[in-house]
Amino acid sequence: MPAQIIDGKAIAADVRNQVRLNIEKRVEKGLRAPGLAVILVGLNPASQVYVRKKREACDEAGLLSKSYDLDESTDQQTLLDLIDKLNNDASIDGILVQLPLPEHIDDTLVLEAIHPDKDVDGFHPYNIGRLAQRMPTLRPCTPHGVIHMLESIGETFKGRHAVVVGASNIVGRPMNLELLLSGATVTVTHRFTNDLATHVANADILIVAVGKPGIVKGEWVKPGATVIDVGINRLPSGKLTGDVDFEAAAKRAAWISPVPGGVGPMTVAMLLRNTLQAAEKHDSQ
Ligand code: NAP
Repeated sequence: MPAQIIDGKAIAADVRNQVRLNIEKRVEKGLRAPGLAVILVGLNPASQVYVRKKREACDEAGLLSKSYDLDESTDQQTLLDLIDKLNNDASIDGILVQLPLPEHIDDTLVLEAIHPDKDVDGFHPYNIGRLAQRMPTLRPCTPHGVIHMLESIGETFKGRHAVVVGASNIVGRPMNLELLLSGATVTVTHRFTNDLATHVANADILIVAVGKPGIVKGEWVKPGATVIDVGINRLPSGKLTGDVDFEAAAKRAAWISPVPGGVGPMTVAMLLRNTLQAAEKHDSQ
């Protein structure tokens, strides 16, 4: 039987709708709508698309998004000064700096400058540390979105072997922490892993986040596995594709997420949820 498709678009629409309803209730109670500052430096075309989608999703859910589109040549101190100003702005609950930043700007310095309570991407070492210690607060959007997708198809995690392909700071590593938190047994693979095929073949739950089309072959997938493809790659034809050989993997997996329409929409939905959560914490302080 071919795999069932995990409809990230529909699951994400539910999350966004929940956020919208919660914001309506806040506003009815006289509370302000959550505010998200979205900072884009330069003209990276993929970043421009992601930022536009995030801003549109904010508008639709009733969040106030403030746009800061900075020139490619913006110096690091100017960006740090803006973050400092937003950290101290009571109308802003979340600050998002779209990555990648131009090469002359140090990503780590910038991400650590965001106050952890406004770190709605969940990248700050404080928030990653809380997740590592089983006390999550603001959780990284993509890995948290993957967990939400898995829960929505009835995944129970405990006693299951999850394999993560890719170990970046923004996807693979926090994905490992999220899966551990859920009770799965986790293997993380990366550039220096030998025999990726054998690791993949042992996965009940397979999460792939590398950025290389077809790095995971369909015939490696364990029959009955759940496959989540985080990769987003643009082929020379202009078509978007993931990291997994979808057609062949779908013949073996029980569930599989497509690209596009899988994890991408979840990331945006979790960003909105994090911003609402940040606003609720802000109210209670
Ligand atoms: P990244 O920072 O380039 O990290 C890629 C990771 O893959 C690294 O950890 C690297 O290992 C690992 N890797 C490289 N070759 C490998 C191999 N042969 N076997 C196993 N692992 C290998 O990329 P990223 O930011 O994590 O993004 C990964 C993909 O997900 C990209 O296509 C990106 O566009 C996509 N993405 C999608 C969303 C979404 O919302 N759907 C969000 C974020 C990212 P080392 O650590 O050893 O170098």
